[in-house]
Amino acid sequence: MAQLSDRMRELVQPHLRDLEPYDPNFTPTRVNLSANENTYGVPATVRAAMDEALAATPTNRYPDPMSNELRDALAAWHGVRRENVIVGNGGDELLYNLVLAFGGPGRTLVNVPPCFSEYAFFASLAQTCVVDVWRDSETFLPNEGALVAAAREASLVVLTSPNNPTGDVAPLALVRRVCEACPGLVLVDEAYGEFAEKGASVEALLAERDNLLVLHTLSKAFALAGARCGYVIAAPDVVDALAAVRQIYSVNVLTQAAALAAVERREEFSPVVAQIRAERTRLFEALSRIEGVRAWPSEGNFVLVRTARASRVRERLRDEYSILVRDFSYAPGLADCLRITVGTPEENGAVIDALAALVADEAAAEEGGAND
Ligand code: PMP
Repeated sequence: MAQLSDRMRELVQPHLRDLEPYDPNFTPTRVNLSANENTYGVPATVRAAMDEALAATPTNRYPDPMSNELRDALAAWHGVRRENVIVGNGGDELLYNLVLAFGGPGRTLVNVPPCFSEYAFFASLAQTCVVDVWRDSETFLPNEGALVAAAREASLVVLTSPNNPTGDVAPLALVRRVCEACPGLVLVDEAYGEFAEKGASVEALLAERDNLLVLHTLSKAFALAGARCGYVIAAPDVVDALAAVRQIYSVNVLTQAAALAAVERREEFSPVVAQIRAERTRLFEALSRIEGVRAWPSEGNFVLVRTARASRVRERLRDEYSILVRDFSYAPGLADCLRITVGTPEENGAVIDALAALVADEAAAEEGGAND
């Protein structure tokens, strides 16, 4: 892995010395199923409304710092008040602001890995101590007792539902126990919430627990990953604290306009989400049928699989088939795991066929090697 130069290692803050320059490990491919994007894109009717809104948006003035028009639309959608909503430049910005405001030296963030790696990364930037409560190595479900116990000592708990990359939904009863136990704040990251079974959201708990935050993004179901727009729903004083640390103009005018058009026409995304859910079932079943592949059930727009020589399989998918999936085989707890985003029927068909051929080929090579 790349390192900062010696000069930079001297100059950056001491706790940042071992940072690795970001390597997105991205190769342009025919089929990109690596980043859990919505590969169907924005529906044409919504895109037309968005284009009209963008064309009518002047760019010579600074944006409304708090995105109030968008906040009002989000609040109306979720049945809360404007004061309960804060918008960010992607969910990532809000996660960063969370540790900036509530983490720091002497504070603890409880993390439930394997999960989205940015929580621990942002925590480390803000010198926040990370306590990992590992998921079961077979089922990937959280260790509920250990999580509640760790929450008692935590400034922050972050739980992802559905979890990236394992696909499971956090039970509401567990989130309630964690919120009760935690003297600090509990963020449930529902970036993939729209792909889950109805009723999977923990939003109903917001009314009873003022230390709960629910994170959403328009990057996934709403196909706006490139526009960068996420939001948190929480108690007004939590929103105020997040607002106090944010860069005031982080959400630009074009993003605010595009996001508002998407939110106002959110029903038009329903058929796409339904199709992704149906394709997820097809992908999961087809992958499960491949000998030598284990797939985990998922409520997100991705499926996690384990197969021997996963890194090599992933490279061959890219180089021989021009299909990109995410390699997690280096990540703790995810040996030999790949994450495959649910794409269009054609994309899913392509990855199923290619994976079946490569896994068989690798198994034959291994057998041949063993006989040498
Ligand atoms: N949470 C999870 C679990 C994610 O997987 C992602 C993106 N991959 C995000 C949050 C952030 O998404 P964005 O910054 O695009 O809103």
